[in-house]
Amino acid sequence: MSGSVHTRVLIVGAGGLGVPAAIRLAQSGGVRLTLLDPEPIELSNLARQVIYRTADVGLAKAQVAARRLSQEFPGVDVNPVVGALGPDNAPALVLRHDFIIDGTDDPPTKFLINDASVAARRPFVYGGVLGFSGQAMTVVPGRSACLRCLFEAPPAQGEIASCREAGILGPVAGIIGAIQAEEALSFVRGEQPALAGKILTYDARTSRTRIAAVSARRGCQCGAYDYQRGLPAAPGSGAFTQGKI
Ligand SMILES: [Zn+2]
Repeated sequence: MSGSVHTRVLIVGAGGLGVPAAIRLAQSGGVRLTLLDPEPIELSNLARQVIYRTADVGLAKAQVAARRLSQEFPGVDVNPVVGALGPDNAPALVLRHDFIIDGTDDPPTKFLINDASVAARRPFVYGGVLGFSGQAMTVVPGRSACLRCLFEAPPAQGEIASCREAGILGPVAGIIGAIQAEEALSFVRGEQPALAGKILTYDARTSRTRIAAVSARRGCQCGAYDYQRGLPAAPGSGAFTQGKI
């Protein structure tokens, strides 16, 4: 699958992270993109998302972004899907793609992407932005730590400020989205993404970037802990269900 000109990349969210990631991937070519987003463009989106214009307000983000990308990069294959990722469609959508980019801003959807990717053995890159700080991490299911190795469950509603409440800085999202695209491109070239099992944190106030290893957690459904120690797969482990389902 990797290294193919037909690598299928699913970008969940056509906002501050998803759009810069999509632009970078469209520039590079060699991928087929699916852009998934349920929301229309709002006036408040325009300041931090360069691809949308005033006349686009009210139109679906996924469709406008796909149209702009096709105009700008005529060879690119972009398929817009106006809809949200939910428990009902996540398994099939993830399975139809080779690599997933998390461009969402809510923790439950990030965990949904994590779980569907682990179950389907599809690598994905997590991205998050809060205030002046951004993060990215790539999960290669069953090989490197997943989101549930880091946090066992999504934070309770209201426990952390969402991007909407805390406000997100467009340039930080642009940097994280571009990093996410580079992770996908490493996968397309058949290389190990640089952030597999590592979390990158970027702070716009200091311009400092830190990369820290993330340990696979014993007992996590992704199976990375056992794999890294050469242990046999635990029954029901997400990493080793392929062939049985
Ligand atoms: Zn895990």
